[in-house]
Amino acid sequence: MTPRIHILPPTLIDQIAAGEVVERPASVVKELVENALDAGAGQIQVEVEGGGQRLVRIVDDGGGMSPEEVLLAVQRHATSKIATAEDLFRLRTMGFRGEALAAIAAVSRLAITSRPAEALAGYRYTVDLGVPGEGREVGAPRGTTIEVRDLLTNQPARLKFLKAEATETAHSSEAVLRLALAYPAVHFRMKSNGRSLLDLPPHATLLERARVALGRKLPAQLHGAAGEESGVQVTACLGAPPEASTTSRASYLLVNRRFVRDRGLLHALVMGYGEILERGRYPLAVVHIEVPSTEVDVNVHPQKIEVRFARPQIVYDAVRHQVSQACARAPWLMAGATSSHKPLRVYSLPPTVGVPAREREYGGYASRERIDEALALFARLPSPSRDREPGPGESAGVTSAAPGSLAAPAIGAAPASHGGGAAALSLAQGTPVSSIAPPSRAFASAAEGEPFFASLVYLGQLHRTYLVCQASGELVLIDQHAAHERVAFERLRQAHRSRQLRTQRLLFPCMIELESRLAAVAEAELATLAGLGFEVEAFGGNSFALKAVPETLAEAAPIEEVLVEMLERLASRSGLGAEEAAPGGPDVMEHVLATMACHSVVRAGDVLDVTRARALLESMDGIDFRAHCPHGRPVLLRMSLGEIERRFGRT
Ligand code: ADP
Ligand code: MG
Repeated sequence: MTPRIHILPPTLIDQIAAGEVVERPASVVKELVENALDAGAGQIQVEVEGGGQRLVRIVDDGGGMSPEEVLLAVQRHATSKIATAEDLFRLRTMGFRGEALAAIAAVSRLAITSRPAEALAGYRYTVDLGVPGEGREVGAPRGTTIEVRDLLTNQPARLKFLKAEATETAHSSEAVLRLALAYPAVHFRMKSNGRSLLDLPPHATLLERARVALGRKLPAQLHGAAGEESGVQVTACLGAPPEASTTSRASYLLVNRRFVRDRGLLHALVMGYGEILERGRYPLAVVHIEVPSTEVDVNVHPQKIEVRFARPQIVYDAVRHQVSQACARAPWLMAGATSSHKPLRVYSLPPTVGVPAREREYGGYASRERIDEALALFARLPSPSRDREPGPGESAGVTSAAPGSLAAPAIGAAPASHGGGAAALSLAQGTPVSSIAPPSRAFASAAEGEPFFASLVYLGQLHRTYLVCQASGELVLIDQHAAHERVAFERLRQAHRSRQLRTQRLLFPCMIELESRLAAVAEAELATLAGLGFEVEAFGGNSFALKAVPETLAEAAPIEEVLVEMLERLASRSGLGAEEAAPGGPDVMEHVLATMACHSVVRAGDVLDVTRARALLESMDGIDFRAHCPHGRPVLLRMSLGEIERRFGRT
């Protein structure tokens, strides 16, 4: 009887092995860029076409390979990086498995052109879907160029799993970004279909690279810190709490320069932020962890994105301590941002990530007309609530203080100490308030249809930022910008859903020149933009004509900046490295609408008179503040009379 068991043919073995390493074009990009880094390149150029499926080309100026080495490089288990098992624990290179080139050669049309510095001529060698081709001498610059065409073309079943071109491109650029974060001295460039996506010239430090690569150039946006503990070196670049998001994809963890996914380390990072980070949120952060190579096993995942530590607890503690110490010194706390302090958080807005902090916290002073317009415009948007009768006390003569009568006491937060549980809000003469009652009743009544906000007695405006109100038995402070933004957001969302967003044509189209990355997003999202009220027309190259804008933003200047911010939001739905978040999830549209809302409303610092303040309060009823997204900035805080009396020592 012939045995049923047989040895597989080598080409099939290679294809099976390739399945582990080559999941999508981004895997090819990652492996080839790692090879270029291992070859000591100072400049690495990545080009993709057709999302990388049609072509990935990597050009480096590294050490290069001799013709013999080129022939060996595409063999399975061929590597110059390790020789013995012990070497696995003294790695100085990204690669070591000797698998990538063989795997890629099995499922693509591969061409390698390479010239070591000392050689006179280069050598070009091709492998066609696993079948060795010709090798010949060619003129070539020093270094290596690797071209991978028609990836997975002999694997139709796997080809089907590839996503839209833009998504695959985004995965590739995310792969380059992760490596660029680890190698600041290397010049990285990336192009997609001839359009530049990335150009990161050499940077002196990890922090500088992180700031430029992640587009957070100010120290307050990305705070750097470094320290060592039990032999674990931690270098952290930490984003401010308002930049945190619901997925962990912007929490970059690197172990010995290797991007890794690790729940334990992620947890340590989040715990390091502690109190100041909303639950369920992950910070924008890059954390570099250096441990002796004997302390970490990198050979636990075919794509090398997981590692195992010999003493995980020590690494965990080091990360948590270093991050928490860094957070305590971070400029965003020194600035006295109360926004993320837990006991003050009551209800909140969808995250306004990307809205410049300056604007979020202390927006510019706007003209009266501008405020009126903003209020009028959002009043015209369809209200999500049913029409309601005026509430009790709403039309009656409401006592309101003369403007300015409450202006003297400044309200602001003392710098929050790390891990401190108490809210550090000081009223007037610095009396600390340590606990603020949660507004359960407000929401209960609003949800039941009884107007709560409209029934408040409006006392005046504090610091041109907060509305001071009285309800039965309590003091209520409302953040005017947060409240208005929240209302505008709800209405925009409603209007967007029912396709009732009104647009206004511009008298003269506004020409906008976008950076190429955003131009690609704009091109792909023209229909989405139209749905939001932005009529945008591609004008060739990176130029676009803006012909109509949403009515709510007709006065928002400069409109280009709003558009750019929205494109940034939309860019994230190309699925940047997103294992967790599905591209195009509702989250992205909410961010986009939140950005629009933020630009359409009154700001902190705008003077609101009684009429305007009451208009705002009234519009707040009917918005279910509990409905979704319990993150971000609080809208109001309340203090019961009992609490006030206790503080004055009356009880
Ligand atoms: P590994 O990186 O794990 O060694 P690869 O299959 O990725 O395995 O590469 C095989 C070998 O080919 C490497 O060990 C290296 O010697 C050589 N090589 C690959 N890419 C380059 C490059 N860009 N420059 C110089 N040598 C390279
Ligand atoms: Mg390699």
